[in-house]
Amino acid sequence: MPAETAAPALRAASTGLTGQLRGGLDAPICLTWELTYACNLACVHCLSSSGRRDPSELTTAEARAFVDELAAMQVFYVNVGGGEPTVRPDFYDLVRYAVDHGVGVKFSTNGGTMTAERARRLAAMDYVDVQVSVDGARPETNDPVRGDGSFAAATRAMALLADAGFGGFKVSVVVTRLNVGELDDLAALAEGYGAELRLTRLRPSGRGAATWHELHPTAEQQRELHRWLVDRPEVLTGDSFFHLSALGEPLPGLNLCGAGRVVCLVDPVGDVYACPFVMAPEFRAGSVRDAGGFAGVWRHASLFAGLREPSTGGACNACDAFGACQGGCMAAKFHTGLPLDGPDPECVRGHGEAALAALPPGSARLPGPGHSKAAPVSVPVLLGASRR
Ligand code: SF4
Ligand code: SF4
Repeated sequence: MPAETAAPALRAASTGLTGQLRGGLDAPICLTWELTYACNLACVHCLSSSGRRDPSELTTAEARAFVDELAAMQVFYVNVGGGEPTVRPDFYDLVRYAVDHGVGVKFSTNGGTMTAERARRLAAMDYVDVQVSVDGARPETNDPVRGDGSFAAATRAMALLADAGFGGFKVSVVVTRLNVGELDDLAALAEGYGAELRLTRLRPSGRGAATWHELHPTAEQQRELHRWLVDRPEVLTGDSFFHLSALGEPLPGLNLCGAGRVVCLVDPVGDVYACPFVMAPEFRAGSVRDAGGFAGVWRHASLFAGLREPSTGGACNACDAFGACQGGCMAAKFHTGLPLDGPDPECVRGHGEAALAALPPGSARLPGPGHSKAAPVSVPVLLGASRR
């Protein structure tokens, strides 16, 4: 998951720094690169509706040229995801190439392709970090969302990384209605492998559009999550829960939607979007295959220029929590059909729920099948179901 806004070193950002970041930077702090749509799993909330490779995905030569550009722009690390990036035959060579050219790699994996040899190879590399995804502390919670056997595969990968001496890898969890009650167990799971826990927010994008209404945490669970995070500042969140800061005590981070300012996404075919969670034509800024390459898109795309302009709070302007919450997440609003200058659908003051209820039927943007496999994977999860 994908990552959202802040690099850890910037966590203690001052208002002045936040103001600077709002205006955008010469290069993104946090660039997510989805290397392939191919995936061995079919998670019901997959933000990119992954499953099958796209025949137009960047070739190895194009991927290397993109890394060269990132190195020239002094992008110091890239978040690599997918799909499952490790199923690309050139994956480990591309990681090596990036690291050798001064671009650190943090990649997300479901763990299914990890072997002892690969874990040792990763542990021996500098500037590489691994995020192993699970969505529950036990198979009964995880597998209905990520697929049968996926918990076993992920924990096996964690054990291989720990045995290889890869200290401090990340256990990455999308917080859902099903797993909020397991936060302590998830922290213990990560700790047991010498790893760090990383929590991210569920967005209604990709196949998540069809499952978000059943899976996103309830209002009470959001309060529970906020309290839990306040007590555990060591848990990584990629700044993705800043809308919860409206509950009172602010969470660490920039409290800023970084879309097009410090964050962007490059998809498997090289298209550049403002945010990893909005792969929609309205948020496509260009392509790394364009004449000016990625740098040209990042520096000159009119979409990004617009996002870097000062924005008003719209309907949130009157809210006394606007300074903390900033109206929440643009992606969550976009996919649920809410106005971008209105409240977040998970607004902790309840305004999002009310706004959703007032929408005419059919307002939410339901994506097509994307790169999902032929099997019907985008059916809503039934709460309480033990298996998909
Ligand atoms: S739209 Fe949401 S996910 Fe995307 S950068 Fe903004 S806050 Fe983060
Ligand atoms: S009304 Fe807007 S600013 Fe206030 S808490 Fe809700 S989303 Fe945040």
